[in-house]
Formats: sequence, C-alpha cells, structure tokens
Amino acid sequence: MRLDKLLANMGYGSRKEMKKLLRSGAVTVNGSTVKDGKTQVVPENEDVFVLGEKVEYRDFIYLLMNKPQGIISATEDRLLETVIDLLAPDYQVFKPFPVGRLDKDTEGLLVLTNDGQLAHELLSPKKHVPKTYFARISGVVTDEDRAAFKKGVTLDDGYETKPGELVILSSDEISEIELTITEGKFHQVKRMFEAVGKEVTYLKRISMGSLLLDPALSLGEYRELTEEELAALT
Ligand code: URA
Repeated sequence: MRLDKLLANMGYGSRKEMKKLLRSGAVTVNGSTVKDGKTQVVPENEDVFVLGEKVEYRDFIYLLMNKPQGIISATEDRLLETVIDLLAPDYQVFKPFPVGRLDKDTEGLLVLTNDGQLAHELLSPKKHVPKTYFARISGVVTDEDRAAFKKGVTLDDGYETKPGELVILSSDEISEIELTITEGKFHQVKRMFEAVGKEVTYLKRISMGSLLLDPALSLGEYRELTEEELAALT
C-alpha cells in the first residue's frame, strides 16, 4: 500500500498533513528516510518509523463502548449524533461500525469494529449469541412473566420469540429485571414486555456472549477489547 495511505490510516493525519510530515524527513522505512508518499510498502513486513516511533500496523480494531442515551447506533446521520461521533479521529480512520443496534434510549454494551467477520459471528441468528439486558419495568413483574418468556412470547407482529431467561431482581411498582435473549429483533426486549402487558422504562445491555460491560467505563466512554476478551469472543 502507499506510504501516505498507511500513515493516514494509522491516524497520523490527513493525506495533506502526510505530505508535509514526509517532506520534513520524519518518516523512515527499513532505516532509510522516505519523502515520497507514493512509495509502496508492505506494512506487515517493513519497519516504518515516524519521528523515531514504530508504526504498529493493524487492519482491525475492536472497541467496547458504554453507549449513552440520546446517541444512535449508526455510522452516520444527518441530524443526530452517532456512536461513531463519540470516537477519537484515531479510531474513526479505521471506519468502525456498531455490531448490531441499541435503541436511541438504550444504554450499555456496544461493540464497534471494522471486522465484518466478527460482526457476522456475533449477529448471525444461527450462532444464538446470548445478550443480557438490565431493565426497569413499570409494574409488577411476576413468575408468570418468567414462565411466559421461558416458553417464548408472541410479539405485536405475530413473531414467536425464542425462549428468554428472566431474572426478577425486584418486583414492585417499578420492577428491576435481567433478561437474556439469543435474538436481536427490532425493539425486542421492549416488545417482549409489551407482550405481557408491561412497559420498559429503562434499558441497558450488560453482556454479549462472553463480553461484559466494563463498570470502569462511564457513559460515552470506550476502550479497546483486551486480547483475552477478543479471543473469548471468536
Ligand atoms: N431490545 C430493545 O427493545 N431495545 C434495544 O435497544 C435492545 C434490545
């Protein structure tokens, strides 16, 4: 790939800035200064340094975000802020996308990556990846609801859900629950509660497969997956 493209992809700035950087003699390839951005390099095999710092090449990034409310799970939108807008430019250059969607008013665990294969593995209905949500429900959640979810409920469009596992944490005027499902239908958790005559007033995803929401991440914060987290997911 072209040297200027590699540097731009690795977050060293725009193509124009790359030109300036290269002209200044800041870049070496295998120990020799290279000033021409058109120079072809094989990033996996060649040592590229900028101002004495090795450029660590990688194709893919994997991020774990604690998505806040009010932000949409899309790559771009003409009016609304997206989860991609929350990322630093250094990450945006990799062109990540959210793995699946959380509603605008849903918080919690969202994976962002540019690895289409991993996204497919996590989202494919055939893989049955479990997703657990914490929710507050208006109304008393009962053992009958738990039994209904265990069997599967019928959504407003007639779709019969796969079994879901409901854990009732507290049951009162406002109940708190955890629900684990293996599907990702549009508004699924909200619609499952609608099917038993109840309303979700707060929703947060707390896990996806082996991956847990990191309590150290405040709303809107993100970090890269650790090697262990990534290995466990794939
Ligand atoms: N179920 C919902 O209803 N909303 C989400 O954002 C995720 C699951």
